Amino acid sequence: MTAQVLVSGGSGYIAGFLIRQLVAEGWMVHTTVRSLAREAAVRELLAVDNRRLRFFAADLNADAGWAEATAGCSHVAHVASPLPAGVPKDANELIVPARDGALRALRAAKAAGVKRFVMTSSVAAISYGRGRGVHHFTEADWTDLSKPGISPYIQSKTVAERAARDWMAREGGAMEYVSLCPSVVLGPVWSRDHSASVMVVRKLLDGSMRAYPDIGFGVVDVRDVADLHVRALNAPGLAGERFIASGRFMKLREIAEVLRTQLGDEARRVPTRQVPDWLVRVAAHFNPVARAVVGELGSVRNQSPAHAQAVLGWQTRPVEQSIADTARCLLDLGIVKL
Ligand code: NAP
Repeated sequence: MTAQVLVSGGSGYIAGFLIRQLVAEGWMVHTTVRSLAREAAVRELLAVDNRRLRFFAADLNADAGWAEATAGCSHVAHVASPLPAGVPKDANELIVPARDGALRALRAAKAAGVKRFVMTSSVAAISYGRGRGVHHFTEADWTDLSKPGISPYIQSKTVAERAARDWMAREGGAMEYVSLCPSVVLGPVWSRDHSASVMVVRKLLDGSMRAYPDIGFGVVDVRDVADLHVRALNAPGLAGERFIASGRFMKLREIAEVLRTQLGDEARRVPTRQVPDWLVRVAAHFNPVARAVVGELGSVRNQSPAHAQAVLGWQTRPVEQSIADTARCLLDLGIVKL
């Protein structure tokens, strides 16, 4: 019998690549969207064999639809979680759907007899609240939420993964839980409605970021993140596992350099200057975006993919290729106009 999997959040960036790969590899895929009004548009973008893909309406904030979406599935990839471009005033706008949505998906999965539940967590749940400096993180690390200045998104991912693991320990039974922790996901973009993670390349390329602060992040390609999900769904004996999904850490300065090297004249608006740290600190008093990065100034967060490489044979493509492919798609789709 063909294996059946639920991928939550079918309208999303990572979920789209994951659904494409799963269908290509012969899975029957269920996916959720908040409203079935989006089904036709998402189907058109995914462009997979429609007979292998079914849509269900389910919101992270409500119980309706989760039982139907998981029925008959042996596997779940719970990818949906809010990832806004801005910073909400109330952290609960992100924490509540991230945490309660994961618990809804877990309860429905267990009731449906799902064997393996793979949750898309984030390095946000691993590598924050450690102060400035050069850090090396592994899957054993957790973000320290007791520290001040942790952004609502980072809180939401940490709280959601902790809540999922606590629930599994209490009530998971024989169902296997695996979490995947990607860093900032870049790579090809196929619509204007792209993930917030792509915004950083967009803002560098269109010149709206006129100078970059001294911050950075691990970069990983969306195709490699989808591939890691498939490996985590398939490989035997992964109960309780946690895998970092990241390529190397890059400062915004280095990303800007890659854009200039790879795109030539099309990178003419990419900034060449760094904002002095003192200016970011002043801006942080009134600007929530500056506030979100001020604690990051000068830090390096190396997040090792060694565990995923060793256990799952996972490989990543060069970060330069992911950055260039992001930029090329943004230009080709007319999302960035020069
Ligand atoms: P995305 O394109 O914004 O996808 C997020 C998905 O979650 C969308 O399908 C969205 O549906 C859905 N969603 C949000 N709130 C919802 C709600 N209340 N009810 C139902 N669905 C809801 O982002 P992405 O990059 O693919 O991220 C997917 C997952 O990867 C998330 O868990 C994210 O935290 C994690 N992640 C992403 C990155 C990254 O850099 N992109 C890095 C690490 C981890 P709508 O289309 O209806 O909004």
